[in-house]
Amino acid sequence: MELNERADVDTSQIEDRRGAGGGGGGGRLPIPTSGGGIVGLIVTLIAVLVGGGFGVNAITNDEPADNGAIQQHCDAADKLEQLDCRNTLYVNSIQSWWAKRLPQSFGEQYQKAPTVFFDQSVQTGCGAADSGVGPFYCPADHKVYIDLTFYQVLADQLGAKGEFAQPYVLAHEYGHHIQSLIGTEAQMRRQQERDPGDANELSVKLELQADCYAGAWAKNATQTADADGDPIFKSITDQDIKEGLDTAAAIGDDTLQKQAGQQVNPDAFTHGTSAQRQQWFRTGYDSGDPKACDTFKA
Ligand SMILES: [Zn+2]
Repeated sequence: MELNERADVDTSQIEDRRGAGGGGGGGRLPIPTSGGGIVGLIVTLIAVLVGGGFGVNAITNDEPADNGAIQQHCDAADKLEQLDCRNTLYVNSIQSWWAKRLPQSFGEQYQKAPTVFFDQSVQTGCGAADSGVGPFYCPADHKVYIDLTFYQVLADQLGAKGEFAQPYVLAHEYGHHIQSLIGTEAQMRRQQERDPGDANELSVKLELQADCYAGAWAKNATQTADADGDPIFKSITDQDIKEGLDTAAAIGDDTLQKQAGQQVNPDAFTHGTSAQRQQWFRTGYDSGDPKACDTFKA
């Protein structure tokens, strides 16, 4: 996989809450605490102005838009070496694809959803969460949440070392956003209430569909572009797709249960087996068509 260094990085699709102490409000006022003096203050004020006025947001404790850190990384010459900047480009690509594809495939307008970068813990519309839960989508506030150190866990503890794990994970979470936009998620929750005995099975179908959507995006990712029409990816190779499939396998319910030293218990599955997750990622990838992702019918 090669990203295009000429692609503009749209950091407005990210809420950078790292270093916010999990308070959810951001809360860090950009006042130099020592040694800054008046020069430091001026530099900080310029940073505030250029950075989109995050000082105001911090004071009102509203949506923290302190994207200064990430913007800096994405402005740097080595932006494609920066983990957060690369992930921003993945988010840009995924959303740009769905913006075109959702109306075509499902007759709905796409609504952008930000990805929140956090560390340790975070407040969300779905309650407080900590990094241990892994990346997730919150349907109540329409945001994707990820602690980027999750990728290290994925590589070190779950054996999914390939970099394509990263866009795969994000594309899976945006798959849940699509399910929220077109009503699949709400429908599935109602069905779970009617048939509590099928709750886990229904959850598996929702998750496998998100895997399939991730595969469909992967197939089309090299066609995605920034606002000026510059491609975001230069290439995605068979090796990348293999890494996507390896990741799908690494986070299958059966594999995770074995890894936790438990007996494999299909009744407790909520995301699908490794084989199922690979199969549905593959279905999405082979067709490139989100309409092929009807796991509820299959
Ligand atoms: Zn999921």
